[in-house]
Amino acid sequence: MAKTTLKNTHLPHFLELLRAFGELHGPMLNEHGVLCFAPLASTSELQLNYSRTQIPPKKYLFPFREELLQYQKGSYRQAITHGSETVLFGVHPCDLDGIAYLDQVFLNEQPDPCYSARRASVTLIGISCQPDDFCFCSGPRASAACDLFLQAKEDGYSLSAHSAKGEAISAAAAEFMAETAEEMEPAPCGSCNVLPQDPQLRFSDHPLWHKFEETCVSCGACSVCCPTCYCFDVREYPSLSGGGTRVREWDNCLFVTHGEVAGGNFRATRLERLRYRFLHKYCGFTPLTGMTSCVGCGRCKEFCPVHIDLRELFQDAPTACRSTP
Ligand code: SF4
Ligand code: SF4
Repeated sequence: MAKTTLKNTHLPHFLELLRAFGELHGPMLNEHGVLCFAPLASTSELQLNYSRTQIPPKKYLFPFREELLQYQKGSYRQAITHGSETVLFGVHPCDLDGIAYLDQVFLNEQPDPCYSARRASVTLIGISCQPDDFCFCSGPRASAACDLFLQAKEDGYSLSAHSAKGEAISAAAAEFMAETAEEMEPAPCGSCNVLPQDPQLRFSDHPLWHKFEETCVSCGACSVCCPTCYCFDVREYPSLSGGGTRVREWDNCLFVTHGEVAGGNFRATRLERLRYRFLHKYCGFTPLTGMTSCVGCGRCKEFCPVHIDLRELFQDAPTACRSTP
């Protein structure tokens, strides 16, 4: 694996060079003061000392709403969007893990054509982070789930390429780089995460669910902002001309309309839906995919309007270090 060093003074040149590989996007403050991944008109907009964006980069691969199909009587057209080449710069390891999880869901066995097209057009450049009090993760670490990873050092970054795209960027930026013999080791597990070893057994009947139910407003923010939540609904929008459009939109298991059947919803109360999301995530999806479906980004706590912190459930339970996918 190629290892090179980029000094801080060369970072602006490096960022400009990335534009040759696609439209440059990164973490920035939008006009409402919200941190988000967005196109960078100027590299000075980049916010590198950020904790987390409100919406994770899953929006690039699995958009909030997308057309799947357009049809007329006797014919149809699959509306696959071949996204333009995009370089996503400054993605933290937890969000890279989130994308690796979505890859597992959408690219394995029966690849989803819309996701595949978008995934192929995105170049991922990861960067090391500094966990804060909201993080669930296993501490700062390097991640290989990207094309190129930048590990912060005192006066710049150690770079490691993890794909042909990453190698190509490193080669193009050779004039800004210095070869290094130093091995880029992931930092040790600093704040060992608090994921439970046997959540179903321990937490199904935990009294805290009743406390959470009193304040949860079923807004669904914890699912929207989660980098691994991917529930969706597929809707038909017929036109008066006889044809129509099939659209895929994000759905949300915190909503009473999610999973509704004739006669109502099997999870009619807020408590049931909140507990379902937690148990399904840890006990359902994780064993099914072989990867943890909580990457520890901390968004569900930070963006919950009533400050529900599921980590309270874990406080008196034995915990396990989450393995990096
Ligand atoms: S469950 Fe919460 S901490 Fe875990 S990945 Fe989702 S938003 Fe992040
Ligand atoms: S963000 Fe908070 S209030 Fe909204 S559904 Fe999730 S736990 Fe409930």
